[in-house]
Amino acid sequence: MKKKIFLLAVLFPIFINAQVNTFSFNINGTTPAGFVQALTIAGQKWSNYLQITVPVKVNVFTVNSSLLPFSAITLANGRKNFANAPQPNTLYVSTLANQIAGSEVNSGQYDMDIYFNLATSYYFGTSKPSASQSDFISTAMHEIGHGLGFYSDGYVDGSGKGSFGNIPPSSIFPLTPSFPWRGQDSVPSIYDKYIVKVSGNPLTTVAPDNSTALGDSIKNGALYFNGPLYANASHSNTPVRLAGGAGTYTLGVDLLHIHNTYANTIMSYYWGAGDTVRTPAPWELGILKEIGWNLKAVGLKENNNYSLATSFPNPANTTIFINGKNIHGIRIYNPQGELVHEMYNEFKADELIVDIKNLSEGIYFSRITFENTSQSAVKKIIVKH
Ligand SMILES: [Zn+2]
Repeated sequence: MKKKIFLLAVLFPIFINAQVNTFSFNINGTTPAGFVQALTIAGQKWSNYLQITVPVKVNVFTVNSSLLPFSAITLANGRKNFANAPQPNTLYVSTLANQIAGSEVNSGQYDMDIYFNLATSYYFGTSKPSASQSDFISTAMHEIGHGLGFYSDGYVDGSGKGSFGNIPPSSIFPLTPSFPWRGQDSVPSIYDKYIVKVSGNPLTTVAPDNSTALGDSIKNGALYFNGPLYANASHSNTPVRLAGGAGTYTLGVDLLHIHNTYANTIMSYYWGAGDTVRTPAPWELGILKEIGWNLKAVGLKENNNYSLATSFPNPANTTIFINGKNIHGIRIYNPQGELVHEMYNEFKADELIVDIKNLSEGIYFSRITFENTSQSAVKKIIVKH
């Protein structure tokens, strides 16, 4: 049995060569209609951007209580000093550690536990939520984003002492992770190592660990992700401002989010009810690349030099994502020129999610049309189930 699973894992990328199911979701609790599909799309969308060869295992819990102070929360697994770890004594989220090691370093454990509070008015569809609904695909992408590396081990305790890798398990009460708690690994995360103060000093070295001075540094003054190789380059060659530094510290809010002034950013608090953010910002991909992920070029731009819209993945299995401004709609034709599918952008979104699971395998052509122009973009689509 084990052998068969191994063989499948090896053969899949060779023969399917796209849209390999790189996320698995283990669901605990009842799920409303559309929940699993939206979750699957969220994973698929991250897969469109990141090279994931060791599948990501997500443990999902649904709760339903207006008393709980969150709509969704993620506890991430991690490892330090694993095989091939680029930096010693540094915590890497296990999704990234697995990727870097080239094999599962947390075998038998999930990479993250995500709790979704269904007391939140979630929208599970693929078009646009109403003004009072929270978009579930965006929320799930955000939560998964923490498990992919937007993860900090910074902490300020009740007495004002700051630390990296000394987060007490009681601080996440009543939650407990399904894997050993990594908050007390006594080291910063790889993400933490790029955080700097306005002065340019790395936060992890600006003051001694477990000191009030470090607590003050975490709490006071703007904080930035300073990624010299990729992150800054994706952000007009400047560091990316992070949440926090406003005089207080809140676990799960500060450091591990991008500052709430950043629009169109999955990992910021800029967006809320009624909004969708289903495409990572360039600086989010830059940060992930800086901490060690390899990006898929195809996720950034489709291999079609027509710049009005992008389309991915290709080949596609169940879904195609079309991104662009002022998209009017899409028509898909078979090689005989017969119209086989069409969809209009009734919500005027910058992204169309096209369901192609009913198309049989083969080559198709899509024509994407735009508002207020006779121009259109033609793309070749390969459907492979
Ligand atoms: Zn978050």
